[in-house]
Amino acid sequence: MYLLWEEPELQQFVIDPDVARGLVSKGSQITEQVRRYIVRQTKQRLHQPVFRATVLRAYETRCAVCALGHAELLDAAHIVPDGEEAGIASVRNGLALCKIHHAAYDSSVLGIRPDLVVEIRADLLEEVDGPMLEHGLKGRHGQRLMALPKVRAERPDTDRLEERYTRFRADG
Ligand SMILES: [Zn+2]
Repeated sequence: MYLLWEEPELQQFVIDPDVARGLVSKGSQITEQVRRYIVRQTKQRLHQPVFRATVLRAYETRCAVCALGHAELLDAAHIVPDGEEAGIASVRNGLALCKIHHAAYDSSVLGIRPDLVVEIRADLLEEVDGPMLEHGLKGRHGQRLMALPKVRAERPDTDRLEERYTRFRADG
């Protein structure tokens, strides 16, 4: 078995899927089901660490919203959520976001328009509070993303941004 990648803290690892495929031979229905199971499990383990590494590299380890540049505080966020058909683990469906902006994006506190401008949910804009709300959230409203991949082909897919932004508008 070939171990290609390991993230012990997440208990994830990557093995060569061709090796997993070779574990059982094609033919009977049972081995075919086992084979599909192994391939599926392998793909699930495969995509998360590779997705994270690809997205963080593309964004040069910076949060797209605030430019924070510390890998331990950054996530690779999905634009269309993981598990949905369009929610593929591709860099074009990804954004490097710091923990707070990732949570804000996933809970529709923060939206990203297809033209790459940040919006903050209307009720938060009325609130007065500490520096995270004032600078970290309200201060980003109406601002363009601060970090984007240099390579055009790695930038966020407009259709997926549009789909996600429509949900942000509906939730707000
Ligand atoms: Zn951020």
